[in-house]
Amino acid sequence: TRPGVAPLIELNDGKTIPSLGLGTWLGFTKSGDRVPVNDDSVQKAVELAIDAGYRHIDTAAVYSTEEQVGAAIKKKIEEGAVARGDLFVTSKLWNNNHAKSAVVPALKESLARLGLEYLDLYLIHWPIAQTEHSAYADIDYVETWQGMMDAQAAGLAKSIGVSNFNVTQLDRLISMSKVKPAALQIEVNLNLQQTELLNFCKAQNIAVIGYTPFGSLFHGKAAADAPPPRSDDQALLKIADRHHKTVAQINLRYLIELGVIPIPKSVTKKRIEANIEVFDFQLNQQERDVLKSFDKNYRTIAVTQWKDSPYYPFNK
Ligand code: NDP
Repeated sequence: TRPGVAPLIELNDGKTIPSLGLGTWLGFTKSGDRVPVNDDSVQKAVELAIDAGYRHIDTAAVYSTEEQVGAAIKKKIEEGAVARGDLFVTSKLWNNNHAKSAVVPALKESLARLGLEYLDLYLIHWPIAQTEHSAYADIDYVETWQGMMDAQAAGLAKSIGVSNFNVTQLDRLISMSKVKPAALQIEVNLNLQQTELLNFCKAQNIAVIGYTPFGSLFHGKAAADAPPPRSDDQALLKIADRHHKTVAQINLRYLIELGVIPIPKSVTKKRIEANIEVFDFQLNQQERDVLKSFDKNYRTIAVTQWKDSPYYPFNK
């Protein structure tokens, strides 16, 4: 096993986070259903990732992959490949547990599925609260955050943060709470470069974790209306050739140079290994200008089914 290859970044609470992680959400099928989680592909992926030098793994209660992530970590620790303290494990609170008193119990359930005693980072997955039956619940995320602070005080989560909050929501949370989020996880990719949130988080010293980092780069995943580029884009291929890298690696490197911590998901050995080989080269300004030109404020994960919630974070 190789040592972790992604440099560590310091968080505003004094902890550190590896600057690239592995995503473990299996996603939706073309027809919009959740990909069933009925094999051990995620466990295998996490084992391969740890062998390849990943030390940061991203999961969530709602992904149904926490057990597999935990099984892989257990195996790698037993093998002596890594120690728990070398790893950075993130999970997320689902919308049905937003009551202040529900947060710690939900986190304990995630820990039980993962077989861990603590998380490195626990995130509020969405600012939107729902009931068990997916109706909207009238719970302010500021209340939910009180439960997150309890979880951190109990040592169950070393760091706490939020996901899918907009600038207004984040600013309001900060002004109304004693603990500032250590991290914000949002969609960031070539079509959605998030300049406003990145600038806000930089000024507030909040780390930005970028989900769906490939956006619509791959033909198999891109919606018909998604703006370019695809992975066979001539300008991107030229940049990739110049650095002896793939277009996927150029995409990830660009996000890192924007100050984002990408969490690419793959269950494919060669891709898992390639996606972390992005710390041995740098893009120049002219190349970054080409990559900037694809920024179209286009969202891959829009969750328009929640657009009527008063807490919906995105432009309608
Ligand atoms: P990604 O942008 O990571 O894309 C994943 C897809 O890209 C998979 O189909 C994968 O295929 C393919 N792929 C990966 N690497 C390569 C490569 N080098 N070349 C070609 N294809 C490649 O999308 P995700 O939506 O999965 O986002 C990443 C992670 O972010 C999630 O897994 C999850 O952990 C997190 N997330 C968080 C959200 C939130 O609300 N906070 C929302 C969405 C995601 P294959 O696996 O078959 O190799």
